[in-house]
Amino acid sequence: MKKTALSCAALLLAAALSAPAASAAVYTVKAGDTLWAIATANRMTVTELMSLNKLTTASLRIGQQLTVPDTGNYIVKAGDTLYGIASRAGVPLRALVNANPQLTNPNAIWPGLRLQVPTPPSSFAAGQFPLAKGTYTTFTNNYADARTWTPDGSAVRTHEGVDIFAPEGTPVYAAMGGTITNVGWNTYGGYRLTVKVDAGTAFYYAHLQKYSQAFAKGGTIRQGQLIGYVGSTGYGPEGTKGRFLPHLHFGIYNTATSTWTTQDPYPFLVWWELNR
Ligand SMILES: [Zn+2]
Repeated sequence: MKKTALSCAALLLAAALSAPAASAAVYTVKAGDTLWAIATANRMTVTELMSLNKLTTASLRIGQQLTVPDTGNYIVKAGDTLYGIASRAGVPLRALVNANPQLTNPNAIWPGLRLQVPTPPSSFAAGQFPLAKGTYTTFTNNYADARTWTPDGSAVRTHEGVDIFAPEGTPVYAAMGGTITNVGWNTYGGYRLTVKVDAGTAFYYAHLQKYSQAFAKGGTIRQGQLIGYVGSTGYGPEGTKGRFLPHLHFGIYNTATSTWTTQDPYPFLVWWELNR
C-alpha cells in the first residue's frame, strides 16, 4: 500500500517536472468578440484556437470560457534579473523592457513583481518596424476590415494590411531586406513598393508620397534602408492623392501560390515595435 502511494507521488513529480513551460489561461467571451479577434490577440490561428477548445462551430456566446495559451505573465522570484528572465524566454532584453513600460528602473525588480513576457513570432522575428519611434501615432489592427473603394465602385473587399498613421513625408524604412518585385503606381496602393523577403513572402508598402527613382524591379533593398515617405496616394489614376489621411499601408503576401494570399501583419508589427 505504502509503496504504491510513493510511486504515485514520484510519478506526479515526474509529470510536473516534464510539463511544458507554457501554461493555459481562461478567456471569457465578451459582446462583439469573434474567434478571429481572440485568436489574433493570442497569436494563434482560428484553427488552432478551435482545436485547443474542441470547437466545432465558429459561433460564440457571451460568457463562454475559452482556453488560451498563457504566454504573457511571469512572477519575479528572488535572485532574478531582467537579463536572466529575457535569456530564459529567448527574447531580447530590450523587447522585455519595452513590454513592461511600468518599470521605471529596469535594474530594480523585486520578487512577486508581475512581468509581461512577449513571445517572438515564428517568422520575421528579425525584422524591424517600418517607421521610426515617435514619428507615427498608435496603430490598431485593421486587417480584414471592410473596404468599399474599388475603381468602378461595385464591390466590397477586405483590407489586406495594417494602416500606420503618420504625417505626410514621414520616412519609411524596409522592415526586412529583399528583392523589389513591384514598383510604381497601383490603382489601390498608389505609389507602392513590393519587396520579396524570402522564397514565399512579399512585404507591401503602399500610399507612399514618393520614393527613390533608383528603385526598379529586381533591385535589392536592405533592412532598415530608407525606402520612401508616407503619403496619401492611390484610389484612382496615377497621381491621385488626398482621398484619405496619410498613412503607411503595410501588407504581407504569401507568394508561393499562383494567387497571392494575405497574412495578418499585426503580430509582426507589434513584435518589431517592442524589439527595438
Ligand atoms: Zn490600408
